[in-house]
Amino acid sequence: MKIPQQGIDQSDLRARMEKYRMGDGDAAGARLFSLVYATRSDVLDVAKDAYERFFSENALNPMTFPSLRRFETEVLDIAIELLHGPEGAAGSMTSGGSESLLLAVKTARDWARANRPHVTRPEMLLPATAHPALLKAAHIVGVEPIVVPVTNTFAADVEAARSLVTDDTILVVGSAPQYPHGVMDPIRELAELAASRGILCHVDSCIGGFFLPWLEKLGHELPPFDFRVPGVTSISADLHKYAYAAKGASVLLHRSRALRRHQYFVHPDWPGGLFGSPSILGTRPGGAIAAAWAVMHYLGAEGYLDLTRRAMDATKRMADGVRGIPGLRILGNPVMSILAIGIDDRQAEDAVDLNVVADRMLAKSWRIDRQQRPTSLHLTVSPAHDAVADTFVADLREAVAHVRSTGEQAQGPSAMYGMLGQLPDRAFVGEALLDFMDGMDSMPTMLEG
Ligand SMILES: *Cc1c(COP(=O)(O)O)cnc(C)c1O
Repeated sequence: MKIPQQGIDQSDLRARMEKYRMGDGDAAGARLFSLVYATRSDVLDVAKDAYERFFSENALNPMTFPSLRRFETEVLDIAIELLHGPEGAAGSMTSGGSESLLLAVKTARDWARANRPHVTRPEMLLPATAHPALLKAAHIVGVEPIVVPVTNTFAADVEAARSLVTDDTILVVGSAPQYPHGVMDPIRELAELAASRGILCHVDSCIGGFFLPWLEKLGHELPPFDFRVPGVTSISADLHKYAYAAKGASVLLHRSRALRRHQYFVHPDWPGGLFGSPSILGTRPGGAIAAAWAVMHYLGAEGYLDLTRRAMDATKRMADGVRGIPGLRILGNPVMSILAIGIDDRQAEDAVDLNVVADRMLAKSWRIDRQQRPTSLHLTVSPAHDAVADTFVADLREAVAHVRSTGEQAQGPSAMYGMLGQLPDRAFVGEALLDFMDGMDSMPTMLEG
């Protein structure tokens, strides 16, 4: 494919784009259980309008666009209030959870360089269920990740964490909740451990940060996870998840401005001028910042409470439905709208291959992610699932019954996925993953033209 010699009409381009997307998952619909956080169409309209208005603006230099500075400051103020930041708490908007986590680890490294100069090989503790973006961050920033095992309820094992702390540990991470099973790590205990060693504690609340506060206001009992826990020094929370903002928006909050300074990068000697950058990105998209601000103000507390109620109602109906299907169970004790469907070992005679169940569900156009160790199916439930929760359960019940009665075996990609999950040689699986990613650009597309 080469760039066309002559530009193409916009109407032709539109037609092409609509054709190309025919094989896509339905981003606005409710048959997708990852990647998108489907909400009301009026909320989407507000985000799009704001994004478009600030489409060209760049938050790299906040002095040029005071509007963006104001949006960002107000979004951060709201986030700090929701997560009970103390007086003096401060943060930055970033492009997403991965950037927030990268900056949290960079902050910890630079804080340690300033405050724990004896540490030459910094280490961070993170649970096995923590998001891989944290391992990526550790890899990039040059901090050794030390993986803390989880208990049989998929929460970080605090005693194990205690035994893994060394004089080189600079950061302890917990998730609120973790992504695979929607289970909370014991944040209070992890933060206490960090505080007792005089080191930092980051709470990855990328998926829960804009959901749990509303859930709590709706009367749900939750273990404390935010700045109310004394040892917590930073929290990441994604706006482009349950705050329903446009993609490319997250926040990283610090307990104090002094901590945030370690997040920044400055270079005072550049011929191009005095350079200072708060985050990883240089050019920062104004649209994403404006859209987050607009959606928060459009929904207000009442709007978020209503959407949270709807998402939880759908989650409860789906979890109850799953529990009513012989052979299946919900893993761990999920606190919010994230569910992992696993095999109930107590009913071994009812066991089914969940990968085959997922294939059968895909044939009915339900897209569900597959997980490993143990095998499970992952559901990120959005308010839009409210309308389809009962159909989902009925289809899942049928899929399980069908797989059980036909004894259907995994085939194609599913069989491959199941096999790779079990292989003991993880280096080989890593190579296979690289091959797969490397081959993406030579994959045939569904539609020609
Ligand atoms: C989504 C998520 C991340 C990564 O966020 P991105 O926006 O995808 O980069 C990190 N941690 C948790 C718990 C998440 O759910």
